[in-house]
Amino acid sequence: MVEGDDPHPIDADDTSRCPTALWCDTCEAADDLAVGTAESTLGIFCVTLCGTCAESGRVPRFASWVLALARVHDHAEHLDCTVEDLAPRY
Ligand SMILES: [Zn+2]
Ligand SMILES: [Zn+2]
Repeated sequence: MVEGDDPHPIDADDTSRCPTALWCDTCEAADDLAVGTAESTLGIFCVTLCGTCAESGRVPRFASWVLALARVHDHAEHLDCTVEDLAPRY
């Protein structure tokens, strides 16, 4: 009996525990908001987008990689996993 040997897969797209921001992450609209996930070179993170931006597939651009990494870090906390779990696989 092998138990706990498999690294249990993280569902990086699970946003059930992610808070919705007060504004759309790309256009700053304040209504019709929903949380989704986006992928950066640093990993997967959650974003709050209005219906229009979500439909057009827009993703926020960060001023620096430090800010982007902070977002990946936040999402790792929502999922109770590590930043490495959300990093793109090479
Ligand atoms: Zn928007
Ligand atoms: Zn999140």
